[in-house]
Amino acid sequence: MTGFVFSEKPIGIERGEGVSLYDTDDREYLDFGASYACAPVGHCHPDVVAATTEQLETLTYVQASYPNAARTALYDTLADVAPGDLDRVWLCNSGTEANEAALKFARHATGRSEIVATMQGFHGRTMGSLATTWKDEYKAGFGPLAGGVEFVPYGDGEAMREAVDAETAAVIVEPVQGEGGVNPATTAYLETVREATAEAGAAMILDEIQTGLGRTGTLWAADGHGVVPDVLTTAKGLGSGLPVGATLVREWIAAEAGDHGSTFSGGPVVSAAAGATLDAIEREGLPAHAADVGDYLVSGLCETLGDAVREVRGEGLLVGVEVKRGANPVLRDLAMEHRILALPAGRSVVRLLPPLTVECEHADRVIDALEAIVV
Ligand SMILES: *Cc1c(COP(=O)(O)O)cnc(C)c1O
Repeated sequence: MTGFVFSEKPIGIERGEGVSLYDTDDREYLDFGASYACAPVGHCHPDVVAATTEQLETLTYVQASYPNAARTALYDTLADVAPGDLDRVWLCNSGTEANEAALKFARHATGRSEIVATMQGFHGRTMGSLATTWKDEYKAGFGPLAGGVEFVPYGDGEAMREAVDAETAAVIVEPVQGEGGVNPATTAYLETVREATAEAGAAMILDEIQTGLGRTGTLWAADGHGVVPDVLTTAKGLGSGLPVGATLVREWIAAEAGDHGSTFSGGPVVSAAAGATLDAIEREGLPAHAADVGDYLVSGLCETLGDAVREVRGEGLLVGVEVKRGANPVLRDLAMEHRILALPAGRSVVRLLPPLTVECEHADRVIDALEAIVV
């Protein structure tokens, strides 16, 4: 064993199919974390596998300076499905890179350097994105990070208005804070961010890396709130587990974005995977399905768990159960006793973000398991 960043769990995973993962003894686990939200259409979706395999055999890679059908198709699809007029696309390899680019583009396009971010927010682990991430634990010993970042309390419109001024290049914010504990924003809050940035000539960057691709019940959480940012970032499930992220921007940002690049930007294989993933989300009506099953899950959890937990909250299939003691022992019992894999969000929140293809019967299994553990 030579890896050192992740502490590994005692379950060796060998294969995946739909909402399930199978260990080396072929025992089934329900993947209620969608492997860090990377399997929105389920594991090994046949269309994604077919499109990716075919592309792999035809052309594995060509640099982004030569047009390629898979990449061009993905640019078009993303521009088509993006909120409002966010129709210029930068493709990269991960969430943190999508945000890193967003911050660079916003600084260059505005000619300003100050960034406003939110307490409990999470935007990634590279030096720029990390500077906008709240948790000190993630930053300790790595400084100096990118400067000029001010943090304001999440959900406080007044504090946001006060922080945004003529020096502000961008506000970066999640529509639901994922890592930070599953904290949904109200429409009024996001409208305030939109107004404050528009008035100050700053860019609103909406980080939809966890909330996007149908998870909250609409393709983008922005759609559900009727708010169109200047920049929207997506990654995680975009390539169904292949590394691809995107920074979607309005023309005024694209026109003055500055010099940027990446060797792997929009390689044909990841572009084929992302195209097939977006097609499957649309064709299978997964955003609406996520809203339905999400409602079923939340009301079931509320009814069954009652006072045994502090709160159940979320949007669509991004659900947090705030437990009374630490989340880790609950997650261990879920995995080892009930074969359900979920994720933490901070110390006390069990985060449920399954593939969007889960059905109510899967939600029932999770509700029953949590009842057995905490009630
Ligand atoms: C996971 C995540 C990121 C970082 O994405 P990586 O692919 O891990 O770099 C950024 N923002 C949000 C909201 C995330 O959930």
